[in-house]
Amino acid sequence: MTQSLAGKVALVTAASRGLGRASAEALARAGCDLVICSRDRASVDRAAEEIRRATGRAVLSVVADLSDAEAIQKVLDAAMVAHGHVDVLVSNTGGPQPGPFMGFDDTAWQGAFDALLMPAVRLARGVVPGMQAQGWGRILFITSSAVKQPIPALVLSNSLRAAVTAMAKTLAGHVAKDGITVNCVAPGRILTDRVRFLDGEAAKASGRPLEDLQAELATRIPVGRYGEPREFGEAVAFLASPGAAYITGSTLAVDGGAIGSLL
Ligand code: NAD
Repeated sequence: MTQSLAGKVALVTAASRGLGRASAEALARAGCDLVICSRDRASVDRAAEEIRRATGRAVLSVVADLSDAEAIQKVLDAAMVAHGHVDVLVSNTGGPQPGPFMGFDDTAWQGAFDALLMPAVRLARGVVPGMQAQGWGRILFITSSAVKQPIPALVLSNSLRAAVTAMAKTLAGHVAKDGITVNCVAPGRILTDRVRFLDGEAAKASGRPLEDLQAELATRIPVGRYGEPREFGEAVAFLASPGAAYITGSTLAVDGGAIGSLL
């Protein structure tokens, strides 16, 4: 396999499982050494060890709650101490609670702002100066298909992902001449623990067996099935590759064709 990112360092957040983990592994297979973080020491260490074993790359695991500005700074500092530079940032976060618009008070909205938008802002602010100095960088924000087609049960996600997308588009223009691309990767329905949880909640609410609900949801995806985390990771690795140098300010949907909009 061509290691188009050999010698590069990737920082991938919220990477102990799911899409962050799959993105980290795909980048390691493409040649990156990694710094990954998540909230739980045992989980993030386990993910690091598994990726190390599978790819032979160096993987530093850091414990951090991404809602906490100081914790984000510690992750950025750990990456600099270990490697002196970050070439690829994959900014991922945990997803917010589902619920109706009237179900969320100011505290819930503030929590979603702190957990979804501010980590993306802080992480990008932390890596941009170094990328500008070296004249190369890739910044990727994991968002959601909700940025193209809002999901009724996920008003917090719909709103804050739109903010991340607008921030990414603006930043892309500011750093394009520095050799830095900035893009969003929008998952549709990729089978991770979060999607299992959300499907479980929907099944409970509708009184239907989970398997029936998932089979019906899969029929709404043109490809006819949920995506695999590995397939999402491949898209991330492509956007991080040197070959994707002319793609910036974009959102790439990884959704099996599910989103109905043109753009
Ligand atoms: P997941 O729940 O399977 O994994 C989330 C990861 O984030 C875990 O490693 C968890 O430990 C970590 N995490 C959660 N909160 C954190 C915090 N405060 N600080 C640090 N780490 C934290 O979720 P996933 O399916 O991999 O989704 C990743 C992101 O993509 C989420 O924001 C989710 O809402 C979004 N998304 C996913 C899908 C999908 O198809 N899986 C679709 C749309 C959007």
